[in-house]
Amino acid sequence: MSVRLRRREFMAVAAAPLLGGTLRGMTIPKIKDVSVITTAPAGVRLVVVKVTTDQDGLYGYGCATFTQRADLVVEAVNRYLKPLILGRPADAIADLWSAMYNSSYWRNGPVLNNAISGVDQALWDIKGRQAGMPVYELLGGKCRRAAMIYTHAAGAEIAETIDQARKLMAGGAKAVRLQVGVPGNAAYGAPGRGQATDSGAIEDPTFDPDAYVRRTLQLFEAARKELGAEIQLLHDVHERVPPRLAVQFAKDMEQYKLFFLEDLLSPEDIDYFKQIRGQCATPLAMGELFNNSHEWRMLIRESLIDYIRVHVSQAGGLTPAWRMAAMAEAFNVRTAWHGPGDVSPIGHCANITLDLVSPNFGIQEWTFPNERIQEVFTGYPVVKDGYVYANEKPGWGIEINETAAAKYPFGSERGDRKKLNGGWGVVRKPDGTVINQ
Ligand code: MG
Repeated sequence: MSVRLRRREFMAVAAAPLLGGTLRGMTIPKIKDVSVITTAPAGVRLVVVKVTTDQDGLYGYGCATFTQRADLVVEAVNRYLKPLILGRPADAIADLWSAMYNSSYWRNGPVLNNAISGVDQALWDIKGRQAGMPVYELLGGKCRRAAMIYTHAAGAEIAETIDQARKLMAGGAKAVRLQVGVPGNAAYGAPGRGQATDSGAIEDPTFDPDAYVRRTLQLFEAARKELGAEIQLLHDVHERVPPRLAVQFAKDMEQYKLFFLEDLLSPEDIDYFKQIRGQCATPLAMGELFNNSHEWRMLIRESLIDYIRVHVSQAGGLTPAWRMAAMAEAFNVRTAWHGPGDVSPIGHCANITLDLVSPNFGIQEWTFPNERIQEVFTGYPVVKDGYVYANEKPGWGIEINETAAAKYPFGSERGDRKKLNGGWGVVRKPDGTVINQ
């Protein structure tokens, strides 16, 4: 056999997984159909991609939930990704991810990343179902039994927030995020709406950063006195304060020994993390609005944050998120994947998978499902004593009742969210300036 022939045979073998065929006795599935499931069982628009293969009963689900622009993600999947991937082997996940990411040329935006995530996570689900293993086994297996969670306590008044936190602690919570309303103001994560501003015909809520900071410091002073030193406390600024006030706020919060202070700065202002880091030891989490690993690069490399916050579908799915976790691990930065109600149950399972396989896991934000969510999605992971456990079934271990999903169409929101097709409205400073939110 000539050297040239041997090389040709080697190349044929190397290319085989990308072209279909068999792999260790398992026939490689090909993508036969791609569809999108839209549903809002909890009044929040969820988008899930379903990828069906040419093998009987072998399919998978992926979270593509960008609730503020959900209809656009559906179009991106149906009109752009589906024609690209139909007929291709479903096992080449990294290859297909790169193909989808590059096929728009202008890339790395939230709509397209969420669409890619829907396919990416569905392919991981398919691979797990084919192997008869949970996805965490495909990523190297668990390095912890379960993931510590935090949930939200919020009230219009400080006493109300603390009362909610007490109830969560009585249920076994080890960590709680505290938010409180600000009288006369809109507040993130807590009830309240500010007085109308003169901004033309439409009246928008107002937010006063100074009043918010004063009120939040009062909340944490009361919380530490009444809840004690052992409970882990968190807070989300939601990028609503200007950089100079953010530096002072982080210093003033240091005494309350938070688990972390989240999104203290806007993505546009991240250079100020250098000043914050130089002046206090308040643990910092950042990145919920980031789209790509390059946005964390400076913050991680210079040890300016302690936790990466990532909405996994916003970043393009499990494949890039797993790589981000590894990048952060090299610098002892930990993970805190985004897990509120605008993550689908499939997305929560992807979060938990990352929690269980990453040595540098930090904490998992958690949303308890209502009855309607559980009617549509079976296999929702279970929380015991402040920790969430994977459901141990192949793939994500989630099945979707599409008939039940259709009972809860988009549009069940109330007020502005319904009027804005799931989008968020506008929040202004008292002088009328629009703020980041
Ligand atoms: Mg947040």
